[in-house]
Order: sequence, then structure tokens, then C-alpha cells
Amino acid sequence: MLATMLYAPGDVRVEERDEPVIQKPTDAIIRLTATCICGSDLWPFRGLNDVSSPMAMGHEYCGVVVAVGSDVKTVKPGQFVVGSFVLSDNTCPHCRHGFQSSCEQREFMTGGQAEYARVPLADGTLIATDTMPDDDLIPSLLAASDVLGTGWYAADAARVQSGSTVVVVGDGAVGLMGVLAAKQLGAHRIIAMSRHKSRQDLALDYGATDIIAERGDAGVARVKELTQRIGADAVLECVGTQESMQTAINCARPGSMIGYVGVPHGVQFDGQSLFFSQTGMMGGPAPVRRFLPYLLDLILTRQINPGRVFDLELPLADAAEGYRAMDERRAIKTLLRP
Ligand SMILES: [Zn+2]
Repeated sequence: MLATMLYAPGDVRVEERDEPVIQKPTDAIIRLTATCICGSDLWPFRGLNDVSSPMAMGHEYCGVVVAVGSDVKTVKPGQFVVGSFVLSDNTCPHCRHGFQSSCEQREFMTGGQAEYARVPLADGTLIATDTMPDDDLIPSLLAASDVLGTGWYAADAARVQSGSTVVVVGDGAVGLMGVLAAKQLGAHRIIAMSRHKSRQDLALDYGATDIIAERGDAGVARVKELTQRIGADAVLECVGTQESMQTAINCARPGSMIGYVGVPHGVQFDGQSLFFSQTGMMGGPAPVRRFLPYLLDLILTRQINPGRVFDLELPLADAAEGYRAMDERRAIKTLLRP
């Protein structure tokens, strides 16, 4: 089968590899219907994470089950499934508290940018749909695997509620999904920080009421102007840099919450400024599995269309071009068809 391997920064190859097999009784093997490239895949692609040996890329996936291990009870061959990018048993104390991304048996999905993939902890990770979904829903179902679930978690963690004024820092796919989530959760005002026309347009379509193109202190000043100097009730931090994190903290009013889902790279906090900011922070890898049944229902009943974040679709064999397009910001997010 074809699979996407990262050999070194900038060196993505789609090559012939052995098909995965059941290794544990809790595994499932799926044939990918669609997969995609994540913003976080760009960290090793850009050399910002270590690549010491070839990495099997891909953690966002949906497809049809072709085999299950002897302990798997909730999914069976022939079913269409979507799963979280974090693999969880969905039974341990952290899972029962809704933090499946800190599962005691947690693993991170790998090898999804391929024709077939092994999904460990299938019962606690995968959700099967009742019927085979229409093809036009596939991009949205795929988005639920990570970016939609992560944007949703950012909004949930920031406690967005009816009437909230929300700031979304970051206009990548996750930030755009954060806008969608804030809208669904009833936010009254959604201020999206974005410098790119195509992303601004999508943010407006997903429910943003205001766009701020400025960054850093200038961006914070614009947020303050728009909120009568008060700041936001909820801030979604969807980037993970020092500047974006500081922007998020500075946009947040005292008593607010910041949901931070951009993986921090080189971010440091100052104790005193955090102390005096009087904001709460909740973040980390999104417990997508908590939201997945609800999100799949919203998609299958066509109440949301998160799949529009995919603005480039390529055959799996052209994955390397998909990486370059995202690295050079020619594409928001690349969908790959095996
Ligand atoms: Zn667990």
C-alpha cells in the first residue's frame, strides 16, 4: 500500500509499505476514505521537531473497517468510522471525566496518511455511523477527527456561552473551527484575528462578526477598542507561539477563560503578569472523543459544514505537494484521497 513517510525536514515521500495488521486484540484496521495534513505535521516538516528516523505521518482519518481484533465490540468490518487523533480506552478515570486525551492508555495516532491504518484502542476511539455517509459529507467527517474537535474544545475550554464576546487568535484550520464552534455555542460577538483574505472570508462565513488584521499589541488595542476597553469574555488561542499566547492573555478580560489548543513552541509565562491578569487557562490536546458523537450528528444532519476548511484536495500520492502548499500558506488545509 501507499503510505506517507517523513524522512527529514522537507523530505516527504509517499512510498510502498506493508499493510498494517492486527497487533493487539483491541486494534482495528481501516481502509482510509480520506485523510489530511495537519498544521502540527508542519512542525517536523519545518525541522522544529526532531526527525531522527522516518516517521509514518497522519493522525486525522476516516474510513471503512476491514478487520478488528478479538476484543473489539463496538465496531465491525464494513462500517464507516471516524476516530479521534488521540487513541483512548474511554473507560479509565480521565476518560470518564471527559479528558480522553489524557487517557491512562493514551497513544497518538500515526500512519493515517496511507491507504490502510491500524487504530489501537478501537472501542474507545472510533465512532461508527449508522449508514455509509454521502460522499459530500466526507470532508466534514474527516475534519471532526482533529481540527473541528480541537476548535470545539478551545471554545468549550474558554467557556463560550450564549451572548459571549469571543476572540479567536489564529486563522489556521483550528482557529476557523473555533469560530464555527463559538457560533454554535451562542456567542454574540466573534472577533477573528486574521491577515489573510481567504481565511477572513471563511471566518466571516463561519460566524465571525469582526476581523482584526493587526497582530501583537496593535491587535490587542483593536480588541480593546471593539469591547469598550473591557476585553473578551472568552479567548481561543489556536497558534502556540509566544506572541499568540501573549495576545490571548492581553485580550482576555479579568474573570475570563482562555482555551489554548495551539501546541506551545518556545512559550514562557511570567508569574506576576498571569497573577494580575486574573484569567483562567484550560488547554492541551483536545479530548475530541468527548465531542465526537455530538459533532458527527451535527454534520450528518447538515447543521454545520466544517469540511470547507479543506481548500486543496490531492491524491495521496501527491502528499508532498500538499505539505509544501500548507508550508507556503497556499492552502489552509490539504485533504488527501487514497
Ligand atoms: Zn482512558
